[in-house]
Amino acid sequence: MLAYTYMSPGRFELIEKPKPKPLHPRDAIVKVTLSSICTSDLHIKHGSVPRAVPGITVGHEMVGVVEELGKAVTGLRPGDRVTVNVETFCGSCFFCKNGWVNNCTDENGGWALGCRIDGGQAEYVRVPYADQGLNRIPDGVSDMQALLVGDVLATGYWAAKISEIRPGDTVLVIGAGPTGICAMQCARLYSPANIVVCDADASRLEFVRERWPEVHTARPDSAESLLARLSAHGGADCVMEVAGTPESFRMAWQLARPNAVVTVVALYDGAQTLPLPDMYGKNLTFKTGGVDGCNCAETLRLIAEGKLDTTPLITHSYPLSRIAEAYELFEARRDGVMKVAITPDNQ
Ligand SMILES: [Zn+2]
Ligand SMILES: [Zn+2]
Repeated sequence: MLAYTYMSPGRFELIEKPKPKPLHPRDAIVKVTLSSICTSDLHIKHGSVPRAVPGITVGHEMVGVVEELGKAVTGLRPGDRVTVNVETFCGSCFFCKNGWVNNCTDENGGWALGCRIDGGQAEYVRVPYADQGLNRIPDGVSDMQALLVGDVLATGYWAAKISEIRPGDTVLVIGAGPTGICAMQCARLYSPANIVVCDADASRLEFVRERWPEVHTARPDSAESLLARLSAHGGADCVMEVAGTPESFRMAWQLARPNAVVTVVALYDGAQTLPLPDMYGKNLTFKTGGVDGCNCAETLRLIAEGKLDTTPLITHSYPLSRIAEAYELFEARRDGVMKVAITPDNQ
């Protein structure tokens, strides 16, 4: 089968590999019907994910059809349409039992697919702990609607869930990329009065305004004055920081009102500074990434009910044989790209 492979820092290649087989009784083999490219894939390509193993198939955001199951998998049948979770988790360790699956103590716990074990930018993928890592796609939900469930939507849902958003709140989302837009959509589930999406990229703000006209948008230099108008309490009641720059980190705590929750979703290139004397008395609560991706059944239900819709984010589509072009487009952020769907070649 064809598999897009991390050859060495700076180099991915589409190469021929054997079709995977179950290696463990709890594994599933999934025939990939759609996959997507994530910014984390670019981080692997550029060698900034030290734990990524050269030789692995990349890709950790995909949907497909169950092809083959290990003997110990109980909740699935061959032929089931499924989303694949970015995280591998056993379901039984201390962290899994508490819903903190990102910290699963299994040797492959956390983000392993497409990083330390073969991922899904390929024709087939082996998924460990299939009863945990796969969720059945409800009838009436298309593969395209479900494509982002296992990674960016899981992240947005988790971020909104832990941010303690209350009805009537003013929520600030910093970063209007795919994950920020997912966080924004999930914040709406909690009935805030206002959502402000802030980004330095005017075209991304335009993208948000066109599709979600009820959401406020702001450039970094205008966010403070907009929040002053919208909030009676001197800032956002809740901030989700999804941009990952030193400036966005500073904005996240500066634009929060006293006693706000600041959820730091972003992955940074380097350390950030918390100037504690400057924020003394503000009594902020910080929550930090990464995602506990164990709410996929819930997000699939919300998609089926029409309460979440990530299809506007999928702006481009390429067959697997042309995945290198898709990466080039995604990395250069050309042509208004948000997310790219990779389709099988035989369709
Ligand atoms: Zn990702
Ligand atoms: Zn576990």
